[in-house]
Amino acid sequence: MQKYFEKQTVLVTGAAGFVGSHLVDKLLELRATVIGVDNFITGRKENIAHLFAGESTVKNFAFLETDATAPPASYLDEDAKIDLIFHLASPASPPRYQEFPVETYLINSLGTHHLLDYLHTTNPQGRFVYASSSEIYGDPDIHPQTEGYWGNVNPNGVRSCYDESKRLGETICGVFARDFKMDVRIARIFNTYGPRMDPADGRVIPNFIQQALKNQPMTVYGEGDQTRSYCYVDDLVDGLLRLGNMDQAKSETINLGNPDEYSINETAKMIKTLLKSESKIIFQNLPEDDPARRKPDISKAKKLLGWYPRVTFKEGLEKTILQTQT
Ligand code: NAD
Ligand code: UDP
Repeated sequence: MQKYFEKQTVLVTGAAGFVGSHLVDKLLELRATVIGVDNFITGRKENIAHLFAGESTVKNFAFLETDATAPPASYLDEDAKIDLIFHLASPASPPRYQEFPVETYLINSLGTHHLLDYLHTTNPQGRFVYASSSEIYGDPDIHPQTEGYWGNVNPNGVRSCYDESKRLGETICGVFARDFKMDVRIARIFNTYGPRMDPADGRVIPNFIQQALKNQPMTVYGEGDQTRSYCYVDDLVDGLLRLGNMDQAKSETINLGNPDEYSINETAKMIKTLLKSESKIIFQNLPEDDPARRKPDISKAKKLLGWYPRVTFKEGLEKTILQTQT
């Protein structure tokens, strides 16, 4: 992989976010030249602080604090030549995207359009990787979800600013791939967790870890029999890099996630046990349009990318908890 990435100048939007910051670290390890962009709407300076650590400031890395919804020509140098874009910028936690619905639909729609348009104008041979989501399947009526499934999404509900804008983002990718012959790849990312998730961002894993650590009630929404399948962040980043690197992934849409499926009750119990917590498990209202189950079919990722997750849920939780406590 290094052979490919060391020759690339890579733009990563959402570079100070949970996934983006891990992706940037790995790209720099592979000796790519990286330009990170983030406006910190949900990201955190501490996620990238190690890249600015005094004398050891990392070479080949530049960071721009700016809104990636704007046309890139407005924030990049005129002579910048970008080979590859990973477009990860977008609030991702349901409470956060519901707090910023307009910003969320704009970065996934207009932001995606501007980034693709810029690449098309400045380097039509460049590659574009879009961070889509399992949310494009909505509350799925087929299980597990394959890439051929079109989804079951409420077009006008509390989650629509995210779900529908990820779907429109995919549409825009499709237009640039089909009509303008661009090299566009779509990652449909399923629930991912790990170190550097904002402990306060409201997603289930950080919520449960924080609550269990403080022996506070662990808040299961609904009856807790809805399911999710959790992927450790290192596995996801490996999948994204393969998607960006491999020729056979051109114009493909690929699920990236861990197919091990857990109910929310099981998730709460596992975290409580791992942390030897005295928290009570309590039940609160199920949020509107909360998908009942979610599990990726990853046959395509296995076949095309040779990718599958290596880290078990227990191992990943242990690593995440260790980092949270230090
Ligand atoms: P995150 O909120 O930690 O990171 C997103 C980053 O994007 C943040 O740093 C935020 O400040 C930045 N951002 C948002 N809008 C921006 C804008 N207009 N301009 C510049 N920066 C902006 O979320 P994450 O979990 O790291 O998710 C990264 C990407 O992966 C998102 O596109 C998300 O939709 C997708 N995804 C994540 C998951 C998951 O479980 N983590 C699942 C499916 C899809
Ligand atoms: N959830 C929960 N308690 C929490 C946070 C979330 O029971 O404190 C549930 C939520 O209702 C959903 C699942 O956990 O069914 C995953 O939620 P998350 O916000 O992490 O992401 P989603 O997969 O819904 O986008």
